[in-house]
Amino acid sequence: MRGLRAYDPGHDLVALRQRFAPDGLVELGSNENPCGPSPRALAAAGDALAGLHRYPDPLGGDLKRALSAKHGVDTSQLVLGNGSHELLMQLAQVFAGPGVDVVMSRFGFAVYAIAAQAVGATLRVAPALPTDARMPRGHDLDAIAAAITPATRLVYLANPNNPTGTWFAHDAFAAFIARVPGDTIVVVDEAYAEIADAPDFGSALPLLGAHRNLVVTRTFSKAYALAGLRVGYAVAHPDVAGLLERVRESFNVNTVALAAAEAALADEDWLRDTLVANTAQRTALAAALRERGWSVTPSQTNFLLVEFGEHTAWIEQALLDRGVVLRPMAGYGLPECSRISIGTAEENRRLLAGLDDLASESEFSAMDEDG
Ligand SMILES: *Cc1c(COP(=O)(O)O)cnc(C)c1O
Repeated sequence: MRGLRAYDPGHDLVALRQRFAPDGLVELGSNENPCGPSPRALAAAGDALAGLHRYPDPLGGDLKRALSAKHGVDTSQLVLGNGSHELLMQLAQVFAGPGVDVVMSRFGFAVYAIAAQAVGATLRVAPALPTDARMPRGHDLDAIAAAITPATRLVYLANPNNPTGTWFAHDAFAAFIARVPGDTIVVVDEAYAEIADAPDFGSALPLLGAHRNLVVTRTFSKAYALAGLRVGYAVAHPDVAGLLERVRESFNVNTVALAAAEAALADEDWLRDTLVANTAQRTALAAALRERGWSVTPSQTNFLLVEFGEHTAWIEQALLDRGVVLRPMAGYGLPECSRISIGTAEENRRLLAGLDDLASESEFSAMDEDG
């Protein structure tokens, strides 16, 4: 335990909000949906307040039935979590431990390493794709398959991945899981799956019937804009879901979260509109950053990984002083990059104005370097 490092949430946002109270802080550090949740989710959350003196439904029955209808799976295949972070930890608690290998990719989501180390398992980190690949720093499924040993019981993948924003093709994943031994659990963390629309992207959910060692995790924190309520879910074979249930805290998803998530799921028009807005802003922001000479990794998410090179820490601090929060990546071994969540049009404008401001007052401009 003493060897672990606690999850690094980035900045003290409460302090920063106070500091920038008049103009408002531009929060582009945590991949939240800046448009906020569906009005139907907010109304359901409000209605649920009348029941706060009661414990929540420990089965999460209504939300599970809604998820079961949406994904065409049985409710016995679903496990609800206090955010998907909790489920990622629970998966290690159930399937890993001392003497067991857990495999992840370099530049994979930070929680996987914490989950493995917290239960005393041995973490094996597969190399990522090279920076000049079509998916720079993305998951290399061949390298991940090669890192699996007879002691491996758990593999964590994210599709699309955080912090790179990269994704892997559905066909490539289908070929990958066919190679993985049946007693090794493969977790596909699909925190951004609702957002992804690339032609070669596909959820792993349709493969659940063929692979009882497959677990897919989803969350209401990103596309559905309910990060503050903490709701996620795992979809798996009923036997696997049953094992996860055994270590689940009895009332882990609260009353308000259950109600809001169910209502958010039903508001398909709202989800479509918010995803259209995100894609439009992402396309515009990526183009604007590339125009300014910065390298931007292709993204199927609500954030961009941008290479500011040797200027990264200086730019992050200078933007912070102007009330614009980015996510530093040194903890991921990427001190030359920042992760920038897609904001509203106005927030993205403030980010670009801040960058232009810095360029005009200093010599850092990437344009200058390129000649
Ligand atoms: C944000 C994120 C999560 C955690 O989401 P919660 O449901 O809010 O716990 C999980 N995986 C990835 C890859 C994420 O980016």
